[in-house]
Amino acid sequence: MADEIRPVMSRRDMFSLIGALAGSAVMYEAMSSLAYAGEAGYAGPPKLSGDVKGATVLILGSGLAGMTSAYELRKAGYKVKILEYQDRPGGRNWSLHGGDTYTELGGFTQHVAFDKGLYLNPGPWRIPYHHQGILHYCKLLNVPLEPFVQSNYNAYVHSTKAFGGKPQRFRHVQADYQGYVAELLAKSTRQTALDQAVTKEDQEILLQSLRSWGALDKNYEYKLGEASSERRGYESDPGGGLTSVPTPSQPIGLQDLLHSGLWRSIGAGSGYETQQSLFQPVGGMGAIGKAFGAELKGVIQYNAKVTDIRQDAHGVTVTYHDTKTGGAPRQATADWCICTIPASVLSQIPITVGAPMKAAIDNLSYGASAKVGLQFKRRFWEEDDNIYGGITYTDQPNSLLGYPNHGYFGGGKGVILGAYTFGPAAYAFSSLSPQERIEKSLEYGANIHPQYRREFDTGASVAWHRVPWTLGCAGSWTEALRARHYDDLCALDGRIMLAGEHASRIPAWQEGAVLSALDAIRRLHQRVLAG
Ligand SMILES: Cc1cc2nc3c(=O)[nH]c(=O)nc-3n(C[C@H](O)[C@H](O)[C@H](O)COP(=O)(O)OP(=O)(O)OC[C@H]3O[C@@H](n4cnc5c(N)ncnc54)[C@H](O)[C@@H]3O)c2cc1C
Repeated sequence: MADEIRPVMSRRDMFSLIGALAGSAVMYEAMSSLAYAGEAGYAGPPKLSGDVKGATVLILGSGLAGMTSAYELRKAGYKVKILEYQDRPGGRNWSLHGGDTYTELGGFTQHVAFDKGLYLNPGPWRIPYHHQGILHYCKLLNVPLEPFVQSNYNAYVHSTKAFGGKPQRFRHVQADYQGYVAELLAKSTRQTALDQAVTKEDQEILLQSLRSWGALDKNYEYKLGEASSERRGYESDPGGGLTSVPTPSQPIGLQDLLHSGLWRSIGAGSGYETQQSLFQPVGGMGAIGKAFGAELKGVIQYNAKVTDIRQDAHGVTVTYHDTKTGGAPRQATADWCICTIPASVLSQIPITVGAPMKAAIDNLSYGASAKVGLQFKRRFWEEDDNIYGGITYTDQPNSLLGYPNHGYFGGGKGVILGAYTFGPAAYAFSSLSPQERIEKSLEYGANIHPQYRREFDTGASVAWHRVPWTLGCAGSWTEALRARHYDDLCALDGRIMLAGEHASRIPAWQEGAVLSALDAIRRLHQRVLAG
């Protein structure tokens, strides 16, 4: 990041510098939120006009990519059928509610016991405002959305190695970091250190902006007082009548702040995919998959586990097992096939495609992630800590606590996302039993909220490498891998086209699944019309 700062600083570069100073936090969020995407660029579903002459399409998988494909192709006059391994639509678009049962690889079965209305989103939990593809289908399917709170200034940032392990309020660290950076830059400007780079006139503007941006006092200092307290909050807030005088709060010392490493977490809401506004479906993310499934009633064949995919010059033949009724393997045929089975699973299924597409499927590995939902008897984070939605970040393996963004002030129980792990921590979580994952999440969470143990009620967890139908969280592309295999993965191979988040440049987002499907059907349609 520092390499990007050139020696001569223009006014434009000045703002780049500020960006660079906040860059590590942004980078942290980018890594931890799976968000390494470009702009979605949604232009609406393609118009598939023309006579398709009764062409048939077999779609494999009823995740969002599969159902988007089926919905649009059916609308264009194709005869479509989806084969789906599970007994429900949605794929990774999924919520676990009380009464649900989930069995993972390794044989552990969880009987989810959350109260009515409470849930865990094991996979997707937020939709950025610019993911207009998935938002389009939410509107179309009448899925009500509510705000997802990404940045809560009153939630915590926490490090076991700083401040004796005591969590700090996000707003304290954020305001203090910004304040000190502004003060240092103001000092440099006033000491004429930037004379060569910024004109005298611009320095005046810069100083004004730094005072405002960093909550500096009239001497361009960031210190205890009204200016800083108006940003980071007061020790005791202004009140009414005779007890109205506020007490300003003491900023954290610069050295303590820098050494704490907590600045890593304050860029959390700055990434393109995590800037407000974000949304979540009312009642859980799985509401989108459910609504799509209802719309496609009769099109989806559930409990159909695909085990073989063949094509020749005339069509596609897919072998599948009915996992509910058993019996001999069955076959389905069609003119064309859109396969949305995750590459991690597809690489284990015999498929007649050319060597380039096969190599692309086989070379894409899937990232690790695990989530744990913890139901508490009381919403103590609201009642005791004034935290309404949003996220607390920690340097512990559970990585964060996600507070429910619904049901505020309702009293009663609530479900916290007690762990959302990535990388090595996710592998460690995946190696544990569901009960042990809950235990670990309680241990880590209790270091932030001492109420944890006393108020814990019940929990559920999903480790994505143990999910039989994805064997991982999402396609883990590197630049080199993409350069080598991405185009081959997305190309139409004879009569077979792949779609899904893994066939997009927005991996690990539902938007990627939707846009990949729309692009796949557009190209397939062109091919069909070409005859
Ligand atoms: C932990 C986590 C967090 C995420 N966070 C977000 C987020 O906040 N926001 C967001 O927008 N996205 C998020 N995502 C990404 C999002 O979930 C995916 O990008 C999207 O749901 C993928 O859709 P898909 O249709 O490509 O694949 P899937 O949803 O995986 O659909 C594939 C379907 O194929 C089926 N299948 C598999 N094998 C077979 C077989 N042999 N035979 C028949 N069918 C088969 C599966 O059962 C499944 O239904 C997250 C994902 C994870 C795992």
